[in-house]
Amino acid sequence: LGAERAAEIRALIRDVPDYPHPPVVFRDITPLLADGPALGDVVEAFAGLVDADGGVDVVAGMEARGFLLGAPLATRLGVGFLPLRKAGKLPPPVERVSYDLEYGSAAIELRTGTLEAGARVLLVDDVLATGGTARAAAELVERSGGQVVALAFLLELAGLGGRDRLTGRAVEALLRVE
Ligand code: AMP
Repeated sequence: LGAERAAEIRALIRDVPDYPHPPVVFRDITPLLADGPALGDVVEAFAGLVDADGGVDVVAGMEARGFLLGAPLATRLGVGFLPLRKAGKLPPPVERVSYDLEYGSAAIELRTGTLEAGARVLLVDDVLATGGTARAAAELVERSGGQVVALAFLLELAGLGGRDRLTGRAVEALLRVE
C-alpha cells in the first residue's frame, strides 16, 4: 500500500473507545470489508508479502476476522485455506494450543491431519495486539507439522508489544498505530 492509500484504508477502520470494556479501543474493520476496492487492495497487499517471503502452500486464518481476510487471500494466491478455530467448534480429533489472556485463558484448535508435513503456511489476522493469539496459532501450525512462513496482519497495535512475543518470526503489518 502506498502512504496515501494506506491512510484511506486506515480511515475505513473504525476506532471504538472502551469496547468491549475500558480501556480497549476496538478496531472495527467492517467498514473496510464493505468497501470493495479497499478490500481488494488489502488482499493484493497481503499477496505482495508472499513473494517477499518465498511462497506459501496454504493460508491459515484465526477465527473469526482472520477468516474474512484469509479466505479471499487464499483464493487470490490459488492455495487452500485453513481455519484455526476457537476451542470446541471443530469435531474431533483436533490439535489444541491454550494461551493466557489478560483475564483467564483461551484455546485454538485445528483438525488433526489437515496439514501436509512441511506445508508452508501464511498466518493471517486482522489485528496484532499482545501477540498471544498469533503465538498460539504459530505453535498450533508447527505442532501439526506445518512451517510458518510469516504472520500477516492488517493492523498492528504497536504499543502492546505483540512483535516481542513473536521474535524470530517474520511479522508483517499493512498498517500500524501506536
Ligand atoms: P492478541 O492475542 O492480544 O494479539 O489479540 C489479537 C486477537 O484479538 C485478534 O484475533 C484480534 O482480532 C483481536 N483483537 C485484540 N485487540 C483488538 C482490538 N483492539 N480491536 C479489534 N480486535 C482486537
